[in-house]
Amino acid sequence: MMRNDLSSCRIALKGLCPRCGAATLFEGPGAPTRSCRACGLDFAAAQTSGRTGAFITLLIAAALAALALGLEKTVSLPLWLHALLWIPITIGAILFALRFVAAARLLDRYRNSGGDRSIPDR
Ligand SMILES: [Zn+2]
Repeated sequence: MMRNDLSSCRIALKGLCPRCGAATLFEGPGAPTRSCRACGLDFAAAQTSGRTGAFITLLIAAALAALALGLEKTVSLPLWLHALLWIPITIGAILFALRFVAAARLLDRYRNSGGDRSIPDR
């Protein structure tokens, strides 16, 4: 059964399987599992290469560095406060981006495959 109510965002945040909706997509904070433990859907499409992950990480680090500099121009914060503020934001943003990309790729492949079969490798 196709679940059209599942958006990439919800899948990414909760790590849901696009076919059965079980929270089986991620085993670690950012690493997708190989297949769904509940329905057996192949999650190969969600696997991002190391290069993609590195690119996403760099992109977000650059964007957040620009934000930090912008903030520093507006209000001058002590260095420890910057570290306290930006380290969790950076980790959170990178993890979410990695999960979001994995979920978007999986959802895209799942919908293109017609829904109810396991996702074929391209
Ligand atoms: Zn499933």
